[in-house]
Formats: sequence, C-alpha cells, structure tokens
Amino acid sequence: VDGLMQPRPLTIAHILERAERLYAHKHVTTAGSERLTYAEVADHTRRLATALDALGVPVGARVATFAANSRRHFELYLAVPATKRVLHSVNIRLSPEHLEYIVDHAEDDVVFVDRALLPRIWPSADRLDRVRHWVVLPDDSGTPIPDDPRVLHYDELIAGADPFSGSFEDAFALADENLASGLCYTSGTTGPPKGVLYSHRSTILHCLGTLAAGFIGLSEDDVVMPIVPMFHANAWGLPYGAMMAGASLVLPGPSSDPTHLLRLMETERVTVAGAVPTVWTSLAPELRAHDLSATRFLLGGGSAISPALSETYRAAIGVPITHSWGMTEISPVGTIGGTRTQHRDGTDEERVAVRAAQGQPLPLVTVRVVDVETGRELPRDGRSVGELQVAGPWVAGGYFRVDSGDSFTADGWLRTGDLATLDAEGYLRLVDRIKDLIKSGGEWISSVELESAIVSHPDVLEAAVIARPDPRWVERPVAYVVLRDGGSATGEELLRHITPMVAKWWLPDEVVFLATLPKTGTGKLSKTALRDSTRTG
Ligand code: ADP
Repeated sequence: VDGLMQPRPLTIAHILERAERLYAHKHVTTAGSERLTYAEVADHTRRLATALDALGVPVGARVATFAANSRRHFELYLAVPATKRVLHSVNIRLSPEHLEYIVDHAEDDVVFVDRALLPRIWPSADRLDRVRHWVVLPDDSGTPIPDDPRVLHYDELIAGADPFSGSFEDAFALADENLASGLCYTSGTTGPPKGVLYSHRSTILHCLGTLAAGFIGLSEDDVVMPIVPMFHANAWGLPYGAMMAGASLVLPGPSSDPTHLLRLMETERVTVAGAVPTVWTSLAPELRAHDLSATRFLLGGGSAISPALSETYRAAIGVPITHSWGMTEISPVGTIGGTRTQHRDGTDEERVAVRAAQGQPLPLVTVRVVDVETGRELPRDGRSVGELQVAGPWVAGGYFRVDSGDSFTADGWLRTGDLATLDAEGYLRLVDRIKDLIKSGGEWISSVELESAIVSHPDVLEAAVIARPDPRWVERPVAYVVLRDGGSATGEELLRHITPMVAKWWLPDEVVFLATLPKTGTGKLSKTALRDSTRTG
C-alpha cells in the first residue's frame, strides 16, 4: 500500500518564500560595502521574475550568469529557478573557446554579466548569436558598456518591473520538482566540458543533506561566507543552504585578495566559510592579524586539504579546515570530514589523521570502491584501493545533451575517476585521481600523498607532483614546489624531510622550484597545465 502523505513538490521557490516569511530581517552583504535584507533581496527577485517574463524568456530556457559572488548574482539564483527557468552559472575563468562552446551548447537565451567582466565575454557576443539579451550587473569598475540594442542594465530592469505578488511555489505541480533548476559544466580535462543538470528536487535534498547537524550543520545563528565562487558547482550549495537555514550571507564580490577576505570575515563576524585549498593557503600567513573569534567552521574541498594546512588554522584560530569531497556531478557535496565521538579518546595525532580523510558520506549518499580491472566491489578495510563510485538523489545520472560514455556503471552509479579507500567507520580517503596517479615499475605512487608530505615543510607554500616518463620505471615522480616568502629549503632538504613519511621508492627524482603553479578556472592546481608546460618548457 502507498503512504497517504501530501504530494508536495520540493522546490527552490519554497526556500525563497519561507525565508520571506521567517527570515525577512536577515542580511545579504556584498564585499562589505552593500547590505540588504532578505526582504529586499526577495523584492528584487520578484521584480526580476516579472522582468524575465517581459523579456520573453521561455519557461525551461537557460539563463546564464557570468559573475562574481554578489547579491545580484544571488537574486538570479532565486528568480531563475523559481520561475521554472534554468540557472546556468558560467565559470568566468574559462578560455574563450570553452566559454563559447558552453554558452552555445547550453543555448543560453540571456546572459547576466558583471560590468567588470564584459571584456572577457562581450568579444564573443557576435558568435553567440542565440543569446538575445546581455544584461549588465553594475559595479564601480568603470568598464565601458557597449552601446548595443542587445545590452540591458540590471538595476533599470529591476526598477522598471512590478514585483510578482503571487506564490512561485504554488505554480509547481508534484512532477515539477524534477524540472531542471541549474546547469553547471565540469572543466573537461578530457574532451569538451560536460553539463550537469540539477533539478529542484536534487537541489533541495542536497541542501537538507549538507544542513544536517554533524555535516555543515548551518543554523539561523550562522553568518555564511561562500568564498568558493558561485560559478563553481553553485558555491557548494552554500547560498541556498544559508537561506534555508535563515543564516545571513556574506558574498565577497570579485576580489580574492587575502586581506580583503580576512577583513570581511572579521568585520562581518563570519561563522562558516568555504573555499578551495589554494585560497586557504593564501589566507594562512595573515590569520593571526585578524580577529576570527566568531568563526566556528571552515570547509575545504575541491582538492585535498593537507593536514599541515588544516593544523596551521587550528593553531592560529582554533578551527581546523573541515575536509569535504565532491564533484560538480554531485551537486557537489558527497562527503564531509572531521572527527566523531569514537575519536575522542584517541591521541591528537590520531585525530589529525582522521581530519585528513575526505570524510563520511552525507545522508542519502552511498559510496563504494571497486577494483579498477574487474569492477568488483572492494572491502571497506581502509586499505583496498579502487575506483570510487557514488549513488544518491543529488548525483548526476547523465550529462546534458551528450553521450555519457563510460561515466556511469551498468547499475547507474557515477564513476568518479578518483581512487580511494573506505574504512570500517565509513571514512573515505582519496588516494589520487586515476589520471594523476604515478605508475612506477608496475606499482603506483600517490601524487596527493607526496604533495601533502612536501607542504608539511615550513618553507613550502605549495607543491604539485606529476609523472615524468622513465625508460626503466615507465613513470617517476617529479615535484614542483613554490617556497614561501623568505623560505630557503633546497631540494635535498625537502627530500630528507619527507623520507620518514613515504616509501623510499616514492621519493621524487627531482625537485623543481617555481615562482607559481598553474591553477584551473576554479582555483585548483592544474596538473594538466603543469604537464603541458614541463613538456614544452
Ligand atoms: P574539476 O576539478 O574536474 O573541474 P570538480 O570541481 O567537479 O571538477 O572536481 C571534482 C574532483 O575534485 C573530484 O573528482 C576529486 O578528484 C577532486 N576533489 C574534490 N574534493 C576533493 C578533496 N576533498 N580531496 C581531494 N580531491 C578532491
């Protein structure tokens, strides 16, 4: 027999309308200079809804954003899906080719673009002839705005539109919870970028999963600052999560300057922030110069957080960086780290090791590790290394308008391309991406583990280890290292430092010092770019 509960759809419209009723007085602050209440943001959202209708943007059409983290970007996060259109947040750091490919592939009808970012996208406008309107989000950059009939101004659009006075939520039938709400493309390290098409249902469940206590656990008490860009996997769901929880939001704007970010955290009394490790690395030297006593939870993911980095934070402000593993395909949060009750009696060292793990799967997410060759599931013994596969209601089941190839298993699980172990307590530990693993003499070497060992040296700012072809061993590791200001460690010293931490045959054949390491569009170390530059350079 079926249950007899009400068939109500899960929708982003509900997050908005509930916040209007419960949290109208809470704030959205942008870059420290603009503070609006949720009531004001909701009013703009309701006007934006009318404006999208007036522009003739069809239901189901893709509406692109090309913007930093800001209040206006957040209004688009709300109005576009609440009106059954699809929010396509475009990575602002893509190459012109990828950018044009993505906007064209998504068939974006309108693009909302930060004034300061016009030079990066407007030169493509003539080739992107399916885009009917380009709406400029104002800023004080002074960037010239093209005099062109396709160009509109966000604030004028809002001012000229009446706020929609009905309920967005009431327009959703039960089946509509499966309508697409958002579209994000993965960076496409192999082949063209692939679109992940989130639904209202998947977004709401992801929100609830991350909000669960013991995971990110947001509450109305929190002040949440997504440093992770809103164009990167929906800023890990933090903007929707904050609004659902009734927490205030701090959006840092376009600048990623460490002093700017730390000042914002200090003056806004930010309790929860999320960023990729390269950003946490850049903030680390200045931590002690700021009062971060309000901060209770820092989330890091996208690449491995080394224990050394996390411990730097714990020593300076009493809060370690909590590890999270995810992918654009997983909305993106799959697991969250940290210690549990069973670790309370352990030693400090043991707890550092637990915190280094990528963590336990969120409620409703199931993970398994399978043998790369046979596809057979491996034991959860903390030792058996295999490909990580994921299933869950916020995990992609296919890609937007392309053949999904071998990205999914016959039983519908996502193949992550990551190598990992699972232990008896359910902790996931990432060994490496399959493509970054170094195969030496028939055995493998984890680039991630070597990097983590190298950055534990106090002189090291960041490190990347990649394979170099080797006639005898097939591949051998080479370390590329950026030293901190004033750091003087030599390659020999670094190798001596990591010798107790790794197997002897894992020691890199060479340590190369660089001024910077190449980064991807989402701010992660780009091993692809590093490989290319070392091959040609
Ligand atoms: P891409 O980095 O390819 O642009 P994503 O942002 O979706 O795309 O990244 C997903 C990948 O990032 C994962 O498959 C994994 O390799 C890596 N990753 C994410 N979180 C972590 C983490 N906490 N530790 C190590 N690697 C991570």
